[in-house]
Amino acid sequence: MTLSELKDLCGLPRKGSLFLGGPIRHGYTLKGGSKALDLVLDGVDCLCTRDPEAALDHFLKTGELRPEKTRTYEKIRRWAQLGAKVVKAHPFYPWLVAELELSRGCDRKGGRCSFCSEGAFSTYEERPVTDIAEETKALADSGVTAFRFGRCSNILSYGGTDTLCGIRPEPSKIKELYAAVRGACPDLEVLHTDNCNPLTIAAFPDESLGTLEEICRWNTEGDVLSLGIESLDPKVRKLNNLKVDAETALRVVRLINVAGGHRKRKRGLPTALPGLNFLAGLAGEDKGSFEANRLFLKRLVEENLTVRRINIRQAMIFPRTPLARLSKENPSKAGKKAFMKWKNWVREEIDPIMLKRVAPTGTVIKRVRIEERQGRLCFGRPLGSYPLLVGIITSTEPECEVIDVVVTDHGSRSVTGIPCPVDINRCGFEEIEALPGIGKARARRIIQARPFACYQDLAAILDEPGVLDGISELLAFR
Ligand code: SF4
Repeated sequence: MTLSELKDLCGLPRKGSLFLGGPIRHGYTLKGGSKALDLVLDGVDCLCTRDPEAALDHFLKTGELRPEKTRTYEKIRRWAQLGAKVVKAHPFYPWLVAELELSRGCDRKGGRCSFCSEGAFSTYEERPVTDIAEETKALADSGVTAFRFGRCSNILSYGGTDTLCGIRPEPSKIKELYAAVRGACPDLEVLHTDNCNPLTIAAFPDESLGTLEEICRWNTEGDVLSLGIESLDPKVRKLNNLKVDAETALRVVRLINVAGGHRKRKRGLPTALPGLNFLAGLAGEDKGSFEANRLFLKRLVEENLTVRRINIRQAMIFPRTPLARLSKENPSKAGKKAFMKWKNWVREEIDPIMLKRVAPTGTVIKRVRIEERQGRLCFGRPLGSYPLLVGIITSTEPECEVIDVVVTDHGSRSVTGIPCPVDINRCGFEEIEALPGIGKARARRIIQARPFACYQDLAAILDEPGVLDGISELLAFR
């Protein structure tokens, strides 16, 4: 949301009071900016500095505006169940992913990362499994079938044992959590997760592997475990108290590839892969800082490891974080040019390689919802965490809004495909041309020789009869 949109919303005529909450409570960041602004918004009655739901609850009970009100998990238990039916008012309903909060706060021992505001106002706490399952059931009763565990800073810690080195993961607790959620929604379509602290994997590799294996047993395909790598420049890491160095990050990526790199179904997406989060604009950074990140990514490519996505962001400097002070003493000297060079290098040199590993030609992406049409190209995404953007070549308007798509090509951050199964006797020239190995000349030959009774008939008219063998089971002959 832009600041002017926000101001417009505040100026709309309304009855009653306007509450504003969410991440905005820390200040507002202009798009592309790195410094949080203090907001002065005319028309907001209650700029919630803590939990907006608690401020609203207090207001409804007493009529008082108390922006600093906080909630407990006991209160959330009731609100989450009673409020679940609000999903029906969402314009995309039932095409929604409901985020289930697992915990809040930071579980890290040994100080906080300089930039982070998570848990700045609260200690680490977890929601009980039964509460999460009850919320899931209420959402499922309202028609939701896609879920993502969220909010938590580290899913591996959930239900773990507190030790001097951090929270030791407890695979049986994760199993209990996933089983309870699946039990609460028998028609569950998507179950994904969010953050995973690489420090936990480094400190407790065996327990972490056991926990990752449980996640991969119960989740649905295409899951992403987001890792806060931030910066691998040793001096930046030290100054900002970042979590891992390059060697540790490499071990973590290897371990997640071992636990989640497999596919649950033939032609499916990998079960769970790492997502890498890099941050620029940290204290002590200079033009050479991105080189360590670059070397790390090159090693991933060389070792044939896969990551699902790479996020590169500018750090936002929030008041009351260590970065606010550190940036005054050791401001980043990297500059925009070096940052853009590093970011573009990732987009051009690494993303395409990883995308081909995640969804090679012939992958079938299930239940892609078409969101936009541009002539003969549609764009859509499946439900899930960081869903792949899919460009779909269609000569005619697809009959359904939600279709399966077989991947035929790759862009730098999206895949291209055609509706699946491919009805070879009826589909258009464009779809046939897009089939791997076909192209214009063979597409013409196929169109002229239609109809075919079976795959063997089709193969027989091709100058290279085996060219479609790899995807023959995806072709339909009606
Ligand atoms: S980024 Fe660092 S400080 Fe923030 S929640 Fe994760 S481990 Fe804690």
